[in-house]
Amino acid sequence: MSILDLVRNNVKALKPYSSARDEYQESVSNMVFLDANENPFESGLNRYPDPQQSILKQELAKINKVPTQNILLGNGSDEVLDLIVRAFCEPNIDKIISLPPTYGMYQVLANINAIEVVEVPLSSAFQPQVDQILEVSNAKILFLCSPNNPTGNSFKQSAIEELLSKFQGIVVLDEAYIDFSDQESWLSRLEEFPNLIITQTFSKAYGLAGIRLGICYASTEIISILNKIKSPYNVNQLTQNSGLERLNNLQAVYSEIKLIKAEREQLINQLKTIDFISKIYNSDANFVLVKVDDANLRYKQLTENNIVIRNRTNQFGCENCLRLTVGTQAENLKLINTLKAI
Ligand SMILES: *Cc1c(COP(=O)(O)O)cnc(C)c1O
Repeated sequence: MSILDLVRNNVKALKPYSSARDEYQESVSNMVFLDANENPFESGLNRYPDPQQSILKQELAKINKVPTQNILLGNGSDEVLDLIVRAFCEPNIDKIISLPPTYGMYQVLANINAIEVVEVPLSSAFQPQVDQILEVSNAKILFLCSPNNPTGNSFKQSAIEELLSKFQGIVVLDEAYIDFSDQESWLSRLEEFPNLIITQTFSKAYGLAGIRLGICYASTEIISILNKIKSPYNVNQLTQNSGLERLNNLQAVYSEIKLIKAEREQLINQLKTIDFISKIYNSDANFVLVKVDDANLRYKQLTENNIVIRNRTNQFGCENCLRLTVGTQAENLKLINTLKAI
């Protein structure tokens, strides 16, 4: 399989837009920048940001042992996912595969870009049905979300591996929740699979949903294709600063992850005492999916008690299911007490 054969023809022909700040970086001291029509009075934000976010990428590269050329950053992983769809899928012609119940954004992005979505439902154990997926012909992209949202489980390593070796297109592995899982990221095996794109985010474990920073890891070939279509200043300076600051204090991130995982176990134990909850699904993420007697009723009752959760009852295979994010100890206690009271 050739990656280039999967790329849209107009994208193949593009040259990346070269911005003023692409050519000279401010790292060279005493340079005078009169090239970009910026306001010259220094505020820390008066200059355009680095379009390649080099410092941030170098830090991620060091932490994750991946060369910077295999990294692309975006305005949340949602931007990264959109770039992937737009690079590979021709509107009104191409199709993607999504495995419901899963993250709704794959479908939304496909709809916006006029791309057909072939849905191959997960099994009753919420695992990919590998043979059925491989039977779909001519799909450009397969979206795998592991740990999966909203189910919370991880896909079997063997299923992911078989799909990576046999699917004749791009495999996007969305690892938004990987930090809460006991399974390892596929990042260490990136080199083995030229069609693999791994997405991660600062929005969940890294506690920075507000800055919008998503990460894409892939072969240099795929990264250079995505670089051609991203807007030049897609990650702003404040975001680059905050992301870097967080990476420079990883111990804080790890200790929060540890607390959230401990709270998750505590929450699950407490949920077992609620009589209208008939099933608690295993979770490798920072949320728990539960099956209740009447999801619409329980959702409404919680809202009336000022607790907002996610009602997933209309999703494929999730009848009467609610998705509960793991909060602070006090928030989880309030949730449990309210569930007991209703
Ligand atoms: C929350 C989430 C994301 C994160 O998206 P951002 O745009 O980075 O905030 C990505 N994928 C899944 C499955 C998610 O649940």
